[in-house]
Amino acid sequence: MKTLTIVFSFGLFVLVSSFADGQISSKSVEEKQGNEAKMKYAIAIHGGAGSSPKRFSDENNQKRHDAMKKALEIGTEILKTGGTSLDAVEKVVRFLEDDSQFNAGVGAVFNAAGSHELDASIMDGETSACGAVAGVTTAKNPISLARLVMTETRHVLLSGPGADAFAKQMKVDLVEPSHFDTPATLKKWNAMRAKVGETSWKKDTPKIYDMDTGSYMGTVGCVALDEHGNLAAATSTGGLTNKKFGRIGDSPIVGAGTFADNKTCAVSCTGIGEQFIRHAVAYDVAAQMKYRGYSVEKSVKDILDNRLNKGDGGIIAVAHDGSISMEFNTDGMARAAADSSGRFEVKWVDDPVKMKK
Ligand code: ASP
Repeated sequence: MKTLTIVFSFGLFVLVSSFADGQISSKSVEEKQGNEAKMKYAIAIHGGAGSSPKRFSDENNQKRHDAMKKALEIGTEILKTGGTSLDAVEKVVRFLEDDSQFNAGVGAVFNAAGSHELDASIMDGETSACGAVAGVTTAKNPISLARLVMTETRHVLLSGPGADAFAKQMKVDLVEPSHFDTPATLKKWNAMRAKVGETSWKKDTPKIYDMDTGSYMGTVGCVALDEHGNLAAATSTGGLTNKKFGRIGDSPIVGAGTFADNKTCAVSCTGIGEQFIRHAVAYDVAAQMKYRGYSVEKSVKDILDNRLNKGDGGIIAVAHDGSISMEFNTDGMARAAADSSGRFEVKWVDDPVKMKK
């Protein structure tokens, strides 16, 4: 009987204390769920699909990893201190444009005419304001020029000489086109031309990916959610090696390479631009969330698996609740993500080859 009383009292004590605890635990569970359901801020970055570490030396992999990490720190710092998602995506992309390891700004690939034509776009998910430039040759940072198209003009997309003239007018940093040259991109261009000559753009030319020449698609992009609940996306690229002079890819096309809408998500794409234009990929990620009720992860995967072909590229997206998707159907995509829960990761070392079709 005495034993029973002790057991009973102990049980009661445990029961009472777990109730007392329970209030704390259930609150922390709620808080946790709250955090999981809605991040205060979130950010994702890509450094191009096709940028498998297998293509680089350990030293280069380390350098590219460090650049992605630094880019993530820049974006996270802006968001953490109450800055806007627009500032975060612009500053991150600008930083990567200035790093010659990526195919954007300095380090942009060569076109078939032996020069560079740079494309970039940016979109504000709160207002649907957006700006883009295509085929620019003298703006040091095309992403900042794209933002000026958004804020200073009634237009969305400026191209070629008109966009270069606008850069002058806006007094942005201008450079000689040769500023974008690097020995690595020149080597890749020569390798591509040795394989396909000058006509890689012709319809019947066998499809040669940048990466088949030992090159890589190092386009850069960033998507972010800020603590004001606003989403933004930005993408910048030199395009595809040996592209025909005048060719415009998906990166400066809002709805193809870049999209943002506060109600759904912010998206930046990388890969064979023509495919992303055909399938309106960036918009489709948002549309599937809006009209089919898909999560951002499901929407991104569905498009990569069912609309695009293997090897076409990759997508990063952040949803209005801060959930992040970073997927690709190439053999690698440099990517990084951080959010207000403390997540901070650079994924450089590859996943196994993900060829779905
Ligand atoms: N999507 C870019 C283009 O086609 C290239 C890339 O992402 O690497 O211009």
